[in-house]
Amino acid sequence: MPHKYDLHTHSTASDGTLAPAELVDRAVANGVTVLALTDHDTLEGLAAAQTAADSTGLILSPGVEISVTWGGRTIHVVGLWIDCWNEPLVLGLQRLLDYRRHRAEEIGRRLAKEGIEGAFEGAKSFSNGRLVGRTHFARFLVRRGYALSEREVFKHYLVKGKPGHVPGDWSSLEEAVGWICGAGGQAVIAHPARYGFSRGKLLRLIGQFKELGGVGIEVVSGSHSADDSLLMARYARENGLLASAGSDFHGPENPWVDLGRLAPLPTGCKPIWSDWEGRVSSSAAPAGSRKQFRPNSWNRREQRVTHSG
Ligand code: AMP
Ligand code: MN
Ligand code: MN
Ligand code: MN
Repeated sequence: MPHKYDLHTHSTASDGTLAPAELVDRAVANGVTVLALTDHDTLEGLAAAQTAADSTGLILSPGVEISVTWGGRTIHVVGLWIDCWNEPLVLGLQRLLDYRRHRAEEIGRRLAKEGIEGAFEGAKSFSNGRLVGRTHFARFLVRRGYALSEREVFKHYLVKGKPGHVPGDWSSLEEAVGWICGAGGQAVIAHPARYGFSRGKLLRLIGQFKELGGVGIEVVSGSHSADDSLLMARYARENGLLASAGSDFHGPENPWVDLGRLAPLPTGCKPIWSDWEGRVSSSAAPAGSRKQFRPNSWNRREQRVTHSG
């Protein structure tokens, strides 16, 4: 049986609504055999996801989706097969988490000026308390009746030109790709069609990304149309990038994006998993003995890094 890949997903460690173990269970139920958990700027969900994966036979790629400021805009770079012990990666992400905290408080202050009180605490109550993102604000504002959907909250409150917008101050492209490559991972440009870049700007991004060591772009994505995928497949082919595929699943509340429900890659592009035999073959080491981290020691290490940072 060929593998079924979903290489871009979120859990409650960032702005998803399923806990890592629940995400793994749903992935298995949907027939996914190789799953990447790629939470925004955090590795916190990976230990629990690995434990759950070990008991089901699902192959987990430890991943992350790093927020990057590039060309005056926020873009996202996914890292696959990262080593979660890698100190520069862990410390770099800690800096982004610190910035997220500062940003969330600032969003709260800006919304308060609009007469929306308690938004930071409200958003935090929709999160795990350690990573508060715009999605958590969106869920809070929908609950409070400020809009009918998260999409509407973004449109009216959280994007450029709107009262709760705070310009991003994330990592540089060089840092993000460097952290991923330094941690032995593969860097992939997330949902490239979503940025609305001109062809020229996207090609500039691809050029710099490759120069820095990036190897892939998401061709099939939950936020791409069929036409987007065809175009991104062409960019992948013409620029020698590997093609990735991920749902960008955030939770079952959003019925039009589900785990593993992905169109096949357009013909002619080289899948990012084409050289993953050692990692995903059925003759690979049995579940639980693959070279990974030990969840408990990893947690202790994470706390140590948190306290020292
Ligand atoms: P943040 O990283 O905290 O700035 O939040 C980015 C996240 O917000 C994305 O990963 C999506 O989950 C979500 N998001 C961004 N734009 C929208 C939108 N227009 N509608 C709904 N969710 C969005
Ligand atoms: Mn998100
Ligand atoms: Mn993203
Ligand atoms: Mn994502």
